[in-house]
Amino acid sequence: MPGIWIYSEDSAVARQLLTAGLTLKQSMQQPVNVLTLEESDAPGLILAGADKVVVLKGTNPWPESYSAAIETLLKEEQASVFLIGATLRGKDLAAKVAAGLKAGLVTDALTVSYVSGAIETTRLIYGGLAVRAEMVALPAMVTIPPRTFAEAESCGGQGQTVTLPVNNEVAGVTIQNVCPIVRQGADISAASRVVCVGRGLAKQEDLGLAEQLAAAAGAEIGCTRGISEDYHWLPNDRYIGISGQKVKPELYIGMGISGQVQHVVGIRDAKIIVAIDTNEKAPIFEAADYGIVGDLYEVAPLLTAALQKK
Ligand SMILES: Cc1cc2nc3c(=O)[nH]c(=O)nc-3n(C[C@H](O)[C@H](O)[C@H](O)COP(=O)(O)OP(=O)(O)OC[C@H]3O[C@@H](n4cnc5c(N)ncnc54)[C@H](O)[C@@H]3O)c2cc1C
Repeated sequence: MPGIWIYSEDSAVARQLLTAGLTLKQSMQQPVNVLTLEESDAPGLILAGADKVVVLKGTNPWPESYSAAIETLLKEEQASVFLIGATLRGKDLAAKVAAGLKAGLVTDALTVSYVSGAIETTRLIYGGLAVRAEMVALPAMVTIPPRTFAEAESCGGQGQTVTLPVNNEVAGVTIQNVCPIVRQGADISAASRVVCVGRGLAKQEDLGLAEQLAAAAGAEIGCTRGISEDYHWLPNDRYIGISGQKVKPELYIGMGISGQVQHVVGIRDAKIIVAIDTNEKAPIFEAADYGIVGDLYEVAPLLTAALQKK
């Protein structure tokens, strides 16, 4: 039976996609089904409105190894829409499944709706300078970045859970060793406050200024690409922008950041943007809610002291 299908190996993202799926359900009049690798996620997804949760059980632990099984299942079920979380692994899996199904795939969609028998999506192009609307014929596949939608909340749903054993061994590949990446500090993409430093900072030792401001504001430290990739003053998972992290904090304070579009794309969903820069013509001031034209070496300590007093 045609239906809307959802998958992310990340439980929170799966619930965010469910929000999008439930909206499509209203206009398409088709059930919303979720694929998951985590049996323990199934009850929450059902309560949040999934009509069916299929728990995929394979022997290979890698999410991307499930692509063939997912492709077969979607064919059998005549899926009309497949929404996938745009995580690194989700993108990998989406490409494989789309090629197998010969389905149209739109990546990094910010909106998804059902219009005139097809799926309409919007996404940013040209490094965030423009928004493109695209129509995809059914069956349509769409990847959606984490935190694009709020997580679906419990609504007392009463769908069913099915467990499906699958063969997801990858011929010729043996996993010999797994080394998880150790993050320094919290995940800034989920931080509610971010203090971000740019190349206006003269030396690495001056990072202390940002750290003190971040401590006073209860914020995580982020940076522009040059600070991590060129100077190596902060790890790569700290830089914000089109090729780095996208953040959605309540408060973002940028210091010594010019505000090039590649960076601003990563902060466009911040609720309040405060910018400190000596150059009053810096583009960051166009994106900012509050702009302070001044030297960060003078302004940051004053802000820190004011916050500490509060
Ligand atoms: C394909 C591509 C992808 C990219 N992806 C990203 C990305 O994801 N994220 C990203 O950040 N960048 C990205 N970039 C780089 C981006 O284009 C900019 O070069 C970068 O964001 C600029 O970083 P910045 O603002 O720290 O430095 P600058 O542009 O050099 O700005 C420094 C600012 O500090 C100010 N300043 C100097 N001294 C002081 C002081 N004492 N007090 C206050 N202000 C001061 C200056 O007036 C200036 O405005 C990308 C570029 C390309 C080509």
